Amino acid sequence: SRADITYFGAGPAALPTDVLETAAQALLDYQGTGLGIAEHSHRSELAAKIINEAKADLAAYLDFSPEQYEVLFMQGGGTGEFAASMYNLVGAWVARQHAAVQKELGTDDEAQVLAALRERVENGLKVDYIVTGSWSLKAYQEAQRLLGPEYVNLVCDARTINDGKFGKIPDESTWKLSKDAAYVYFCDNETVDGVEFPSFPKVLEPKEDGTGPIVVADMSSNILSRRIPVNNYSLLFFGAQKNLGSTGIAVAVLKKTFLPPNLSQPSPALLRKLALPIPPIVLQYEIIAKNNSLYNTLSIFDVYIAGQVLKKLLATFPNGVDGQQAVAEKKAELIYAALEAHPEAYKIVPDKSARSKMNICFRVIKGGDVDVAEKAFLKESTALNLTGLKGHRSVGGIRASNYNSIPLEGAEKLAKFIDEFAKA
Ligand code: PMP
Repeated sequence: SRADITYFGAGPAALPTDVLETAAQALLDYQGTGLGIAEHSHRSELAAKIINEAKADLAAYLDFSPEQYEVLFMQGGGTGEFAASMYNLVGAWVARQHAAVQKELGTDDEAQVLAALRERVENGLKVDYIVTGSWSLKAYQEAQRLLGPEYVNLVCDARTINDGKFGKIPDESTWKLSKDAAYVYFCDNETVDGVEFPSFPKVLEPKEDGTGPIVVADMSSNILSRRIPVNNYSLLFFGAQKNLGSTGIAVAVLKKTFLPPNLSQPSPALLRKLALPIPPIVLQYEIIAKNNSLYNTLSIFDVYIAGQVLKKLLATFPNGVDGQQAVAEKKAELIYAALEAHPEAYKIVPDKSARSKMNICFRVIKGGDVDVAEKAFLKESTALNLTGLKGHRSVGGIRASNYNSIPLEGAEKLAKFIDEFAKA
């Protein structure tokens, strides 16, 4: 039964049982209205309340200012955000250049402005990607596909310093950052490869005067597990299905300086003239923000679950994410220590300097035949109700996803099994 197993799957991940019990009831009859939460209009007052509370609770838990950042509930998953982040921040770059060109030329003359803008696009538009694992690689490839490879700069490819495999983060001194990139992109935690940035990259920090690179991060698999310096980011996004809630929504947290009245996206006509891509309307942050995430039909049920997870987190850790971070670190330490105690039986995949606290990736080398050893490891762990441990199909091996819903006892059970399996 549900109570017996500890599920270490990478996403969708296990959700707290009490949240699911509340959600199951809400699905049938929300607050005695006779209608379930998935049946109520997304334009109803109760839906607006669910959205607004989830936004406020996210800001409270992660400790950022709702005055400075807009929370957007998006559709299309983390993958949709690969595209959305590119479209919106390239759009913002074009809008800034447009204003600058008009100012410099001292004219609104369309032909002149357009010629100058075209030149800036051709000579100056760059988007920067730091590739440290499968997901940042996919985001980089999506930007190449949608925007054109000539505009996409590979800051570093972590495989080049690790025998062609992901597992290390290249030293910042080797990063080839563009001058004035439209944005710099990285994935804070690589779910498939078990690589996590130990802290915010030094070279991307804002300068004393507040200027600095425009930074975007994919935090799909470690959001809500550690404190993040939100003010260093222009945009961060995450799919819900790991630490936040159920599959079906993604969240974008966007600095309000990228939204009207501070900045407006260029018109489709201008983008067309510049031969730049026009975003689908559902991926336009400006449109989603203006409509409080209700431009089109949003799954309020998924927002509700996310909201319940946040309420539970805030009830457990009233001071926010630091309390959860301490628990996540303790659980990860237990599991890594068990693996390290048996170098004859296990090989941890990523380098120690970049080990993820959320996705613990390792190989079972006991006995010499990895295939046989890993099959035995999976069979025996499953028999003990420790499930979902199979690594991603692209890399194989074992992956223990240590998301927030894994209790300390779950991590203890796994650590004990790791030890016993090695000794047996
Ligand atoms: N980024 C990361 C870090 C992920 O782990 C995932 C999915 N596992 C994605 C993006 C893609 O998310 P989705 O499947 O929601 O498109």
